[in-house]
Amino acid sequence: MNILLVEPDYYTKYPPLGLMKLASYYKSYGNSVKLVRGIDKDLDFHPDIIEVTSLFTYAWKPVHKVIKHYHNQYPGAKINVGGIYASLLPDHIKEVFPFVNIQLGLHEEAEDYMPSYDILKDVPKWQDWNSSILFSSRGCIRKCPFCAVPKMEGKFRPVVKDVERYIHPEHKKVIFWDNNFFATPHWKEIITNLKDMGLKVDFNQGLDARLVDEEKASMIAELKMDTIRMAYDVPEEKEAITKAVNLLHANGINKRKILFYNLYNFYDENTSKGDTPESFLDRVKYVLELGCVSYPMRFEPLTSLKKNEYVSPFWDETKLEMVAKSRRVIGFGGVFPPYEGLINKFDEARSFEEAFRLRPIESKVKETSIETNKKQMFCA
Ligand code: SF4
Repeated sequence: MNILLVEPDYYTKYPPLGLMKLASYYKSYGNSVKLVRGIDKDLDFHPDIIEVTSLFTYAWKPVHKVIKHYHNQYPGAKINVGGIYASLLPDHIKEVFPFVNIQLGLHEEAEDYMPSYDILKDVPKWQDWNSSILFSSRGCIRKCPFCAVPKMEGKFRPVVKDVERYIHPEHKKVIFWDNNFFATPHWKEIITNLKDMGLKVDFNQGLDARLVDEEKASMIAELKMDTIRMAYDVPEEKEAITKAVNLLHANGINKRKILFYNLYNFYDENTSKGDTPESFLDRVKYVLELGCVSYPMRFEPLTSLKKNEYVSPFWDETKLEMVAKSRRVIGFGGVFPPYEGLINKFDEARSFEEAFRLRPIESKVKETSIETNKKQMFCA
């Protein structure tokens, strides 16, 4: 049979891991597979089965677009739709396309397969991809109210111990998508193997600062890592993140390599609690004072159909926009690095507004008011 794997053309930095595992699964039964991204009008392949993946719920439009297109092109082909959006909002797809099958959650049979990195050569966006992506565990030991993981993946469970089996021999970097890597009982063995292999490592979803101790810090320090990601989402984590940073630094890690995700715009309806602009500013300030990098992370409800539409009762559109604009203008690549000017600006601010206000500077060039407005810039 011919299997067409379709990745809708939404924004993403990573290739479709689920489809790559499905490719291996189908190939192991002697099928032919082909990967496309978005709509390929020159496709010379007649599929019997079409597997469509999906990502965040707010990126639903590109998913509908490919289902419509490939169903029109190949009306006889069976269409399966999986991924996050399909698992969370199956009816939103079925109402429009009643003929598709929805794959809820993981495709258990394909899950253990080594992803087919070779199929990425079919897609210009991914043809130079050279990192291996894997999960050594699924789920999480915690239940943070703002997080989709406990709902999507359930209880924590280690899934892979011998990670080297899932690393492509030509790849020089490995990206872990574990939600809480240090919770796996195999963390030590995995890190030792990664060190021996000499690969670059990225714990992409962040490490849990509360689980960092002397032994873990010293082992992490031996890995080739560009950035160590952790989260400082609620004030109660202050002590744990301070300890984690000090341990990592004591083991030789430059604090500027440590990045903290700082959640904002979250409100818990069950407890009526959430962050405020002021508490967010406190966390950002503290991360910078530690000498680390802050990555503001705007909360998005699990099933939102439009990105950045949700506004917590403790926030408003203007303040959210101030954070977004500051990230673009005074941040660097969307993050706040521990630059002296930025630390001073946040330190001296008497309020959230003052901290995130961008002061317009008039151009020194004397021109008409219209021209002058065009040359307005913003500075911290
Ligand atoms: S520790 Fe991280 S992955 Fe686990 S529930 Fe909390 S936010 Fe989610």
